[in-house]
Amino acid sequence: MNNTTRLERLPQTGARAYPPRHSAFTAVFWEALREGTWQTTRCGACGHATFPPKPVCPHCWSTDMQWAPLGARGRLYSWTRIHAAPAVFAAESPYAVGIVDLDDGLRLACRLVETDNIPWTPGMPVEMVVLSYEDGPLFAARPI
Ligand SMILES: [Zn+2]
Repeated sequence: MNNTTRLERLPQTGARAYPPRHSAFTAVFWEALREGTWQTTRCGACGHATFPPKPVCPHCWSTDMQWAPLGARGRLYSWTRIHAAPAVFAAESPYAVGIVDLDDGLRLACRLVETDNIPWTPGMPVEMVVLSYEDGPLFAARPI
Protein backbone atom coordinates (compact mmCIF):
# COMPACT_ATOMS: atom_id res chain seq x y z
CA MET A 1 0.00 0.00 0.00
CA ASN A 2 1.67 3.19 -1.19
CA ASN A 3 -1.13 5.76 -1.10
CA THR A 4 0.77 7.86 1.41
CA THR A 5 -0.92 10.90 2.91
CA ARG A 6 1.28 13.99 2.99
CA LEU A 7 0.25 16.79 5.32
CA GLU A 8 1.15 20.42 4.73
CA ARG A 9 4.05 21.45 6.97
CA LEU A 10 3.75 24.84 8.68
CA PRO A 11 7.15 26.20 9.82
CA GLN A 12 7.25 27.24 13.50
CA THR A 13 9.93 29.22 15.30
CA GLY A 14 11.70 27.67 18.27
CA ALA A 15 11.37 24.27 19.85
CA ARG A 16 8.31 22.34 21.01
CA ALA A 17 7.40 23.37 24.56
CA TYR A 18 6.81 19.78 25.65
CA PRO A 19 8.22 17.37 23.05
CA PRO A 20 6.54 13.97 22.79
CA ARG A 21 8.47 11.08 24.28
CA HIS A 22 9.79 8.59 21.73
CA SER A 23 10.18 4.86 21.99
CA ALA A 24 11.85 2.73 19.33
CA PHE A 25 8.32 1.98 18.11
CA THR A 26 6.86 5.52 18.11
CA ALA A 27 10.04 6.98 16.60
CA VAL A 28 8.84 5.59 13.24
CA PHE A 29 5.69 7.73 13.49
CA TRP A 30 7.52 10.91 14.53
CA GLU A 31 10.30 10.58 11.94
CA ALA A 32 7.70 10.08 9.18
CA LEU A 33 5.61 13.00 10.47
CA ARG A 34 8.70 15.22 10.25
CA GLU A 35 8.49 14.72 6.46
CA GLY A 36 4.72 15.22 6.46
CA THR A 37 3.72 11.55 6.30
CA TRP A 38 0.47 10.93 8.20
CA GLN A 39 -0.03 7.31 9.23
CA THR A 40 -0.97 4.98 12.02
CA THR A 41 -1.08 1.25 12.69
CA ARG A 42 -3.70 -1.18 11.36
CA CYS A 43 -4.14 -4.70 12.68
CA GLY A 44 -3.45 -7.48 10.18
CA ALA A 45 -5.67 -9.90 12.13
CA CYS A 46 -8.90 -7.93 12.73
CA GLY A 47 -8.41 -4.91 10.45
CA HIS A 48 -8.95 -2.17 13.06
CA ALA A 49 -6.82 0.96 12.84
CA THR A 50 -5.81 2.67 16.09
CA PHE A 51 -4.42 6.05 17.02
CA PRO A 52 -1.92 6.70 18.42
CA PRO A 53 0.03 3.90 16.69
CA LYS A 54 0.42 0.78 18.80
CA PRO A 55 2.60 -2.35 18.57
CA VAL A 56 -0.28 -4.51 19.93
CA CYS A 57 -3.91 -4.35 18.75
CA PRO A 58 -6.21 -3.19 21.59
CA HIS A 59 -9.17 -4.95 19.91
CA CYS A 60 -7.80 -8.51 19.54
CA TRP A 61 -4.28 -8.39 21.11
CA SER A 62 -2.59 -9.38 17.86
CA THR A 63 0.97 -8.17 17.31
CA ASP A 64 0.46 -8.27 13.52
CA MET A 65 0.41 -4.46 13.24
CA GLN A 66 1.21 -2.71 9.95
CA TRP A 67 1.76 0.96 9.15
CA ALA A 68 -1.13 2.35 7.12
CA PRO A 69 -1.87 5.84 5.76
CA LEU A 70 -4.47 8.02 7.45
CA GLY A 71 -6.74 10.48 5.67
CA ALA A 72 -6.04 14.13 6.43
CA ARG A 73 -9.64 15.24 6.85
CA GLY A 74 -12.14 15.06 9.65
CA ARG A 75 -14.59 17.05 11.73
CA LEU A 76 -14.13 18.94 14.95
CA TYR A 77 -15.90 17.10 17.78
CA SER A 78 -15.17 19.64 20.51
CA TRP A 79 -12.68 22.36 21.38
CA THR A 80 -11.52 24.82 24.03
CA ARG A 81 -9.13 27.75 24.26
CA ILE A 82 -6.53 27.59 27.01
CA HIS A 83 -5.90 30.92 28.77
CA ALA A 84 -4.51 29.66 32.10
CA ALA A 85 -1.87 27.34 30.67
CA PRO A 86 0.49 24.99 32.49
CA ALA A 87 3.84 26.72 33.07
CA VAL A 88 5.54 24.93 30.17
CA PHE A 89 2.92 26.28 27.70
CA ALA A 90 2.43 29.71 29.31
CA ALA A 91 4.36 31.56 26.58
CA GLU A 92 1.98 30.13 23.94
CA SER A 93 -1.33 31.00 25.64
CA PRO A 94 -4.00 31.62 24.72
CA TYR A 95 -4.16 28.63 22.37
CA ALA A 96 -6.88 26.31 21.14
CA VAL A 97 -7.00 22.54 21.47
CA GLY A 98 -9.63 20.18 20.18
CA ILE A 99 -10.85 16.66 19.62
CA VAL A 100 -11.05 15.65 15.96
CA ASP A 101 -13.01 12.77 14.48
CA LEU A 102 -11.04 11.75 11.40
CA ASP A 103 -13.04 10.61 8.37
CA ASP A 104 -11.22 7.28 8.86
CA GLY A 105 -13.19 6.76 12.09
CA LEU A 106 -10.46 7.55 14.59
CA ARG A 107 -10.71 10.23 17.30
CA LEU A 108 -7.68 12.21 18.46
CA ALA A 109 -6.79 15.28 20.50
CA CYS A 110 -4.51 17.97 19.09
CA ARG A 111 -3.64 21.64 18.91
CA LEU A 112 -5.86 23.77 16.66
CA VAL A 113 -4.30 26.24 14.23
CA GLU A 114 -6.09 29.57 14.70
CA THR A 115 -7.29 31.23 11.50
CA ASP A 116 -8.52 34.82 11.43
CA ASN A 117 -12.28 35.21 11.41
CA ILE A 118 -13.09 31.49 11.40
CA PRO A 119 -14.72 30.54 14.72
CA TRP A 120 -14.34 26.96 15.96
CA THR A 121 -17.65 25.15 15.80
CA PRO A 122 -18.32 21.50 16.70
CA GLY A 123 -18.92 19.54 13.50
CA MET A 124 -16.93 21.89 11.27
CA PRO A 125 -14.63 20.25 8.69
CA VAL A 126 -10.92 20.33 9.50
CA GLU A 127 -7.71 18.98 8.02
CA MET A 128 -4.59 17.77 9.75
CA VAL A 129 -1.31 19.67 9.31
CA VAL A 130 2.22 19.36 10.66
CA LEU A 131 3.64 22.08 12.90
CA SER A 132 7.33 21.90 11.95
CA TYR A 133 9.29 23.17 14.96
CA GLU A 134 13.06 23.44 14.90
CA ASP A 135 13.39 20.32 17.07
CA GLY A 136 10.69 18.22 15.41
CA PRO A 137 7.04 17.94 14.37
CA LEU A 138 3.65 18.07 16.09
CA PHE A 139 0.32 17.34 14.42
CA ALA A 140 -2.53 19.84 14.52
CA ALA A 141 -5.85 20.61 12.83
CA ARG A 142 -7.06 23.69 10.99
CA PRO A 143 -10.34 24.71 9.36
CA ILE A 144 -10.97 23.89 5.70
ZN1 LIG B 1 -6.78 -6.63 15.95
